[in-house]
Amino acid sequence: MKLPTTPGAYQPGNMGVNPRTAGWKSKAPVLDAGKCDQCLKCWIYCPDAAVEVTADKVRFILDYCKGCGICAVECPTAAISMAGV
Ligand code: SF4
Ligand code: SF4
Repeated sequence: MKLPTTPGAYQPGNMGVNPRTAGWKSKAPVLDAGKCDQCLKCWIYCPDAAVEVTADKVRFILDYCKGCGICAVECPTAAISMAGV
């Protein structure tokens, strides 16, 4: 049976082209920039491409972030905490 294409994450890493898919989350990542050493593990592990890296900082794009907490678990310096939204 061939299933129809869903409107969500039907391809790995495609969430960047789907706007505002995460308004239902109950928690969101918060960065303590003083603890971040730019290792980029959060960017690598985020399943929703919700971590943006600029020249000198990490930022979470909350329109895409689902609040799963993977980034906080994987961060080796405990720079990310999850807070209620
Ligand atoms: S995983 Fe942690 S230390 Fe590494 S870039 Fe992300 S916030 Fe910074
Ligand atoms: S909480 Fe989950 S979806 Fe949000 S930035 Fe972290 S890993 Fe990505």
